[in-house]
Amino acid sequence: MTDELIVNKNGAPPPLEPLIYDLGAPGRTGAILPKPDVPEADLPADLLRDDLDLPEVSEMDVVRHFLRLSQFNYAIDKGFYPLGSCTMKYNPKLNEDMARLPGFALAHPLQDPSTVQGALALMYQLQEWLAAISGLEAVSLQPAAGAQGEFAGILMIRAYHLANGEAHRTKIIVPDSAHGTNPATTAMTGLEVVEIPSDANGDVDLDKLREVCGEDVAGMMITVPNTLGVFERHIQDIVDIIHGCGGLMYMDGANMNAMLGIAKPGDLGFDVMHYNLHKTFSTPHGGGGPGSGPVAVGDKLLPFLPGPIVTIVDEGDEGEPPLYGLTMPEQSIGALKAFWGNFGMLVRAFTYISINGANGLRAVTDHAVLNANYIRSRLQGTYPMPFERICGHEFVCEGHFKDADGIHALDISKRLMDYGFHPPTNYFPLIVPEALLIEPTETETKEACDAFVEAMLAIAKEAKESPDVLHEAPHVTPVKRVDDVRAAKDLILCCRVIPDWDAEAAK
Ligand SMILES: *Cc1c(COP(=O)(O)O)cnc(C)c1O
Repeated sequence: MTDELIVNKNGAPPPLEPLIYDLGAPGRTGAILPKPDVPEADLPADLLRDDLDLPEVSEMDVVRHFLRLSQFNYAIDKGFYPLGSCTMKYNPKLNEDMARLPGFALAHPLQDPSTVQGALALMYQLQEWLAAISGLEAVSLQPAAGAQGEFAGILMIRAYHLANGEAHRTKIIVPDSAHGTNPATTAMTGLEVVEIPSDANGDVDLDKLREVCGEDVAGMMITVPNTLGVFERHIQDIVDIIHGCGGLMYMDGANMNAMLGIAKPGDLGFDVMHYNLHKTFSTPHGGGGPGSGPVAVGDKLLPFLPGPIVTIVDEGDEGEPPLYGLTMPEQSIGALKAFWGNFGMLVRAFTYISINGANGLRAVTDHAVLNANYIRSRLQGTYPMPFERICGHEFVCEGHFKDADGIHALDISKRLMDYGFHPPTNYFPLIVPEALLIEPTETETKEACDAFVEAMLAIAKEAKESPDVLHEAPHVTPVKRVDDVRAAKDLILCCRVIPDWDAEAAK
C-alpha cells in the first residue's frame, strides 16, 4: 500500500552506494601531473604513511561519484524551496557571470585604490542604492552576514550612548517573535536582552513595552515583518515609545522582499538596520556563506559606521568620473571583516538591483507577498493557523490536526520530501506550536505554488487516512529518516563504513 502512495515528481535519486572508497582498482589513475620544473627528490620517510588505504580511481569514477553526491542534495536550482525566513529564491545566472568578470574576480584587496576604481565605483553605487531603499543616510558594506550586521548595529547604538555620556543605557528590548540572531548578537555585544511578549494577534504587546521602557534602555531590535510573517501594526507607536525614553530603533531587514518600494525603514523612524544581500538581493547562500549583511544608518549613527566605506575623494573635472577612495568614519566601531567585505556578493547584489530597477524591485515585493498569501489562503481551513491575517513574504501554519493523533510538523515535512519538495522551516517561530514557516518567494510561478499546495493538501489527507506513511517518511531519499538527536550527539564525520568500528572506544 505504501508504494502506491509514494510520489516523487523530481524522480528518486540514485542509490547511495558505492562510495568512492569502494571504487577503482590498484594502479588506476585519473590525473596527469605536469612535468616537475624542479629536480625530483625523495620525500622524507618519516612523513610517509603506508596505512592510508586511498582509492585509486579513473576520471570517470571521480566525475560520477561527485555528480551522484550532488544529486543527493536538494537545491533551489532543482526545485521549490519554501524555507521560511531563509528566502531561498532563485539566483539569476547573470549575477554569476558578472561576479566572474576578470576585473572583479581577479582584483586583489591590497591593490592601490587608483587601480580598482571600477570596483570602488560599484561599491559606492551599491551603498547609495541601499541607502535610498532604506530611507536612511549612509551604508557600510562591511558585515559578512545578517547576524554580523546586527552585531555592528548594536555596537553603534552602544557607541552613540557612550559618546553622549549615557553609559547606563545597557538594555536592548527584543520581542519574543524575534529571529534568534537578535538576542544572540545583542548578548555578544555585552548588552542585556529584555524580552517582551507578543499579543494574541502576533503584534508587540504595547503595555508590556511601556513597562520596560526607561533610562536604562539603549534601544529596541525588531524584525519587520516579524518572524510570524506579519507586519507589525503598531510600528509607529513602538518607535515613538522607544524614542520617547531615549533609545534607538534597530530594524532587522533580512527579509526586505516584503517591503521593497513600499515602505522605507527610515520613514518609519528606524535609526539603523541591516540587509541580507544573500536573501533579498538574490546572492546565493547556504552551506555557511559567503554572505553579506550591509548596515544602513540615520544621521545619529553616521560617525560610528564600520569601515572602511567608499567615498568620493575628488569630484574630478566635468564629464570625468570622480575618484573613489576608502575612508574610515570618524568614530567608527572599526572594521568587522578583512578588507572590503565579501566583494563577490556585492557584485551580485549590484547586478540584481540594476537589472530590476526601482519598478522591478517593487514588483519583487508584490509577487513575494502575493505568492505567500496565495498559498496561505489555499491552505487555510486545512492547516490550523495562529493568525488569520494578511501576511508579508511568508506565513506560519501549524503542522498538526485535531483528527490526526500523533502527527507532527516533522512528519509533514519529511513526507514533503517524497513529493519532491524541500520542507519549510520547522518549529520556528518558537511561539507557535508545531510551526511550519512557509516562504515561496517571488521567483516561483503559480504552477509551482499550486503543486506545493496540492502536495500539502494530499499530505493532510494522508495524515488522517494512513498516518504511518507520514511517520515512516521520507521513503524515496537516499537517506531515510535520521535520528536528529543522535546525529547531533554522536557525530560521525567519516563517510566510510569501517568494519568492526568501535564508536565507544574511538571517543
Ligand atoms: C536570516 C536572518 C537573519 C540572520 O542572517 P545571517 O546572514 O544568517 O546571519 C537575521 N534575521 C532574520 C529575520 C533572518 O531571516
